[in-house]
Amino acid sequence: MTVTEPLQYIGGARRSGSGAPLTILAPATGAEIATGAGANAADVETAVAAAQDAFPGWAAHTPGARSDLMHEWARVLRSRAAEFAALESRNAGKPIRLTTEFDVPGTIDNTAFFAGAARHLEGKASAEYSGDHTSSIRREPLGVIGSIAPWNYPLQMAAWKILPAVAAGNTVVLKPSELTPLTSLLFAETADAAGLPPGVVNVLTGTGADAGQHLVEHPAVAMVSFTGSTAVGRQVAATAAGAVKRVHLELGGKAPFVVFDDADLEAAARGAVAGALINAGQDCTAATRAYVQRPLFEEFVGRVAALMDRVRLGPVDDPETDMGSLISRSHRDKVAAMVERARESGAKIVRGGRIPEHVPESGAFYEPTLITGAAQDSEIVQQEIFGPVLVVLPFDTDDEALALANDTPYGLAASAWSRDVFRTQRASREIRAGCVWINDHIPIVSEMPHGGYKSSGFGKDMSAYAFEEYTNIKHVMSDITGAARKLWHEVVFRAE
Ligand code: NAD
Repeated sequence: MTVTEPLQYIGGARRSGSGAPLTILAPATGAEIATGAGANAADVETAVAAAQDAFPGWAAHTPGARSDLMHEWARVLRSRAAEFAALESRNAGKPIRLTTEFDVPGTIDNTAFFAGAARHLEGKASAEYSGDHTSSIRREPLGVIGSIAPWNYPLQMAAWKILPAVAAGNTVVLKPSELTPLTSLLFAETADAAGLPPGVVNVLTGTGADAGQHLVEHPAVAMVSFTGSTAVGRQVAATAAGAVKRVHLELGGKAPFVVFDDADLEAAARGAVAGALINAGQDCTAATRAYVQRPLFEEFVGRVAALMDRVRLGPVDDPETDMGSLISRSHRDKVAAMVERARESGAKIVRGGRIPEHVPESGAFYEPTLITGAAQDSEIVQQEIFGPVLVVLPFDTDDEALALANDTPYGLAASAWSRDVFRTQRASREIRAGCVWINDHIPIVSEMPHGGYKSSGFGKDMSAYAFEEYTNIKHVMSDITGAARKLWHEVVFRAE
């Protein structure tokens, strides 16, 4: 049943937008979940004003007071975990097992982490560095943060954007993807239920053109934190540059997965299937290019194919389902077209490459797909696919493997598989990516940063590094001599 509901959350209350109507779908069935008016420039004004009003009060909370409220927020989230998991599964087409065991617990842990981080502002020690002054560092919140998030992990992306900003004393206007706003709205509601003041967390549901662009342009937005595609990130950065706004960009990825000839083959094969198919491959760190040293190549391909055959596609509310739907039929068509072009250019489709049978026809499912024989400079190896597609290519020497791993415009994540510590150390040093896993691929922890190199962007989500990004560093330098005539004045003038 479709529910008409207010799709905006501003100043502590659900509101209707003033923009064009939006329909929120369940991608796995094509069913309508909700309809409502989207946000436009007028709603951006209202939300930014609410965040501006809330800022002085929130910034004046002690770190301990912010921390207490955020710990309470984590408690509220824990008590509503099943509701979040069901809604995220439905709105994003994810298997309920994934949302229950990954998205929701990850978000709760992030909330608890940033509740702790709120009390750990860091800087250099105050001291008399000049001899005549005491220097000290203040870390101050920036003000209103405009955050923009994608559809692949709607709840986790909302959390990654909102939590470090709020912990540092900022207020936030988040624009989730117009396809998947429902858990972001619920996340904002739970913030207020936990006692965060109204206006600290606001959510605008609208398209990039109707809401996102205005949020980036708004003069009262002090910083823009964007997660999404490299193409849109480039546009956002250009707009923000005009106003000399701080920007944080978490963009696309094309993670290499390097298997050396001394690797545990079974571990690598299982890791590749999990790393490529998590969230139906709609993961910016997903393993998409496996480079396998030639002696292991055939065996690796065989094992991955056999495991892919056992991955269960099905209704997303069934706990036995391994892989769910893609986000939309149009996105699935884009993935399918890339696979077709790879086939036409001579690559071999070892598994998948088709729309599966025995799944809801109105959904957007796509079979786990395994490709060999693609050229390193082909689209399927160079460009983000964002679907359940793994390309496997052979290599001969370690030098070659590391060069191939670095040979795309992206640099978000990578993994290296070997039992030789010198090989894995070298890979972790030489692969240009924000995260290099050794003998694994995908796990994340709240304490460690996530963010890219190269066209994958800059800035960090999660961890104390993210917290610091949402602060300004101020140097306060106080004279301690009390003298009217200071020694250093003599470099400018010597008058008695
Ligand atoms: P997208 O770039 O199309 O959209 C992202 C967000 O930007 C959406 O909310 C969209 O409405 C908004 N937007 C679109 N045009 C805009 C504009 N002109 N101004 C302001 N906002 C605008 O990305 P998507 O398809 O939603 O998500 C998939 C992409 O996200 C992939 O490229 C993926 O790699 C990337 N991603 C990156 C990370 C990371 O941490 N690096 C994490 C998740 C997803």
